[in-house]
Amino acid sequence: MTAQYDAPSYDAIVLGAGAAGLMCAAVAGQRGRRVLLIDHADEVGKKILISGGGRCNFTNLGAGPGNYHSQNPHFAKSALSRYTPRDFLDLVERYGIAWHEKTLGQLFCDGPARQIVDMLLAECRAGAVEIACGAAITEITHADGLFHVTAGGRMAKAPALVLATGGPSIPKMGATGFAYDVARQFGLKVVQPRPALVPLTLAGGDALFTDLSGVSADVLVRAGKQTFREAALFTHRGLSGPAILQISSYWHHGEAIGVNFLPDRAPGWLLAAKLAHPKAGLRRLLREALPERLATALCEQLGVEGELGAQTNARLSAAESRLADWRFQPNGTEGYAKAEVTAGGISTADLSSKTLEARRVPGLFAIGEAVDVTGWLGGYNFQWAWASAHAAAQAI
Ligand SMILES: Cc1cc2nc3c(=O)[nH]c(=O)nc-3n(C[C@H](O)[C@H](O)[C@H](O)COP(=O)(O)OP(=O)(O)OC[C@H]3O[C@@H](n4cnc5c(N)ncnc54)[C@H](O)[C@@H]3O)c2cc1C
Repeated sequence: MTAQYDAPSYDAIVLGAGAAGLMCAAVAGQRGRRVLLIDHADEVGKKILISGGGRCNFTNLGAGPGNYHSQNPHFAKSALSRYTPRDFLDLVERYGIAWHEKTLGQLFCDGPARQIVDMLLAECRAGAVEIACGAAITEITHADGLFHVTAGGRMAKAPALVLATGGPSIPKMGATGFAYDVARQFGLKVVQPRPALVPLTLAGGDALFTDLSGVSADVLVRAGKQTFREAALFTHRGLSGPAILQISSYWHHGEAIGVNFLPDRAPGWLLAAKLAHPKAGLRRLLREALPERLATALCEQLGVEGELGAQTNARLSAAESRLADWRFQPNGTEGYAKAEVTAGGISTADLSSKTLEARRVPGLFAIGEAVDVTGWLGGYNFQWAWASAHAAAQAI
């Protein structure tokens, strides 16, 4: 696909042929709108292709506003309620794409993620969408109710312009903060973007744990009031795994996160163990619930050696409390290079939650990851891309 589009006038120009842009262009096209979809990459939907480990976790059956964060937690409600996970699943099934539920409502393709991209391209064809790939966008202007876009050396104009160029996570795949620049050009505010669903890095005393690289455990992790119960993984740089990626979206620089290494143990379990097994050592007890290397490291850090019966109750209570809320002080994240999404983005305060249209710039829309709506890990981000795209397409 190249930047070959011949007509200068369209009903809508969609910038970014990722998840949201493909969906929006297809739906608007099928509603009879003449749509031009422009991307600077040489092929469409690159993030879809690598998503979900190549199997694309394309939605989550439980997706609702509570699975997203944004400066306005209510903003996503309207779009999510009007295009549901079932709606996207109906589309997937119409194309005969085999799928399975992995866990926690997460739906994946049985086969390659390419099937989702091919489906969206077929939907675009059904809407007679013109697609221009490999087209660097050099200028956007707005005059007399029309947006003029110069890309790949050609100019096109339309009364509607949709920003669907995502966020800057994984720059080596062509991700940019372009949507923010265009939003600012038109006077829209941008909530400070930051890497999210990203591994956290450790330094100082916490760095001792990097010796545990490769060890994982089922934990309950906490940042502020938000908690997630999933696997955490120690890495040579710090912490990763689903629990950590999830909590990273809620973590802010300078804050500690709390990890409960024994989320199934009732309060008082260690004093009860002392009574029941006074000859046992803490290390042995921890090994029953945790990988051996982790149990050993925790025991060393706690400094509780020897038989439980020889420990004071106060010491054991303190050890139990620490195991239930082990504080790590991350010194950063692995950054956009490793972030599955970008939190923050175009401020929802400047957009209509019903149509995703800019309140003060008629005809300008922003959808998908470019907007300050960020989903949890597990298919929620694609569901926001589909739903916000669908909402905008109804208004074009
Ligand atoms: C490794 C990885 C795995 C993921 N797995 C999942 C998953 O399984 N489930 C899930 O729900 N989410 C997943 N995500 C998140 C999901 O991919 C994104 O939230 C989603 O793709 C956002 O859709 P979007 O259309 O807004 O942006 P994108 O899909 O990123 O699309 C943006 C498009 O804009 C184009 N673009 C960027 N800048 C410019 C520019 N200057 N000019 C022209 N075009 C431009 C890009 O080339 C791209 O095609 C994953 C992300 C990553 C990085």
